Amino acid sequence: MNTLPYIRGKMNERGKKTHRRETFFLSFIFISLFYACPVQSVNISVEIYGDKLLKAAIFAPFTGRYIVQADGKTIDTCAKGSVFEIGMMHDSVVLKAPGRMIGIFSEVHFRGCGDRNQFNIKPLAATATRLYDDDLTATVNGTSLKLVNMVQAEHYIAGVIECEAGRRRPPEYFKVQAIICRTYALSNLAKHIADGFELCDGVHCQVYRGAATTPAVINAVSETKGMVLVYQNSQLIVAAFHSNCGGYTLNSEDVWSAPLPYLKAIRDTFCLNMPDARWKKTFPAEEWNSYLKKKEKNLKPDSLRREAYWDSIPECSRIFLYDRGYTIPLKEIRADLNLNSTYFSIAKDGNEVTLHGRGFGHRIGLCQEGAMHMAQLGYNFRQILNFYYTGVQLIDYNILPSSGFN
Ligand SMILES: [Zn+2]
Ligand SMILES: [Zn+2]
Repeated sequence: MNTLPYIRGKMNERGKKTHRRETFFLSFIFISLFYACPVQSVNISVEIYGDKLLKAAIFAPFTGRYIVQADGKTIDTCAKGSVFEIGMMHDSVVLKAPGRMIGIFSEVHFRGCGDRNQFNIKPLAATATRLYDDDLTATVNGTSLKLVNMVQAEHYIAGVIECEAGRRRPPEYFKVQAIICRTYALSNLAKHIADGFELCDGVHCQVYRGAATTPAVINAVSETKGMVLVYQNSQLIVAAFHSNCGGYTLNSEDVWSAPLPYLKAIRDTFCLNMPDARWKKTFPAEEWNSYLKKKEKNLKPDSLRREAYWDSIPECSRIFLYDRGYTIPLKEIRADLNLNSTYFSIAKDGNEVTLHGRGFGHRIGLCQEGAMHMAQLGYNFRQILNFYYTGVQLIDYNILPSSGFN
């Protein structure tokens, strides 16, 4: 059914069936409260190129105008056509223009002062240039440059969607992704508080490689501006999502420690024919058996668990593998053997053992491929979010007491 290229499954993911949902619109309560009040702009500080240990980079305005501030003083203004080299010497930032030294500073800030401000940045050792929205601050952190993009939340969300969901998806799906990426970002602003910024640009937070350029993504962010998912009208939810649940999502407590009332197992038939619905991995029987024996060394025998693990139909809700009286967490097996999911059956054929699996990811919360298929079938973003997150509400971030923007 899906003919769109698949991107997200191999990227980051943020997954026991206890409740079946044969007909979903009758089985949950969803209160959608979106208040049409003016949305204030929220800025987020995101460290960029944090994994690259940059020594130097080229900054060039692309749209709008920029004020260049060094150690708190305005030293220049610039627009498209200007180029600056940002380097470092010991613990200071060295700022140069073509053919001339500007100065050595503790901090350099490029502050956008036009209606819309974007800049290009290119690490000196790299060939690719990236486009970013809004402001940039450069300092030195130990042995490398620290570049922080102070960016309007809505610009950041659009950039994240392109990395997390790709560029070619149904418009309604982009709205779903906008709301969950926004909810995730705004509930994790304290993640890097000790580092001097709010979010990083890698899988640890959300993958972010600069400004969005896809009109459908930008429109989806604009049409859902400020909307976040909350539980009991006040608490931002943990907006977990994964690529494909294989037909059943899991309760949060099945994989993580905390039970969350909105991350409940559901049956999902929308993703069954999507690209990541099934997988297969074969091991030499000797390798598989020695792996299990190695795992058992670290475990105590569980006398209550004697089920055979050879089976032909995987149990969607199973979270342990029972082998010769030992209980091995499936999430450990998934991590050890780099499996797509914990949802698999095991078949032995001669000297080989084959795992026949379903789904991709931790299988908690929203199933991206199921959501994409729902969007293709004509479900709207509210219906899709309601299907995957139990008993949540959709509100404007600005009315949240904890937002600090009231
Ligand atoms: Zn991070
Ligand atoms: Zn699914």
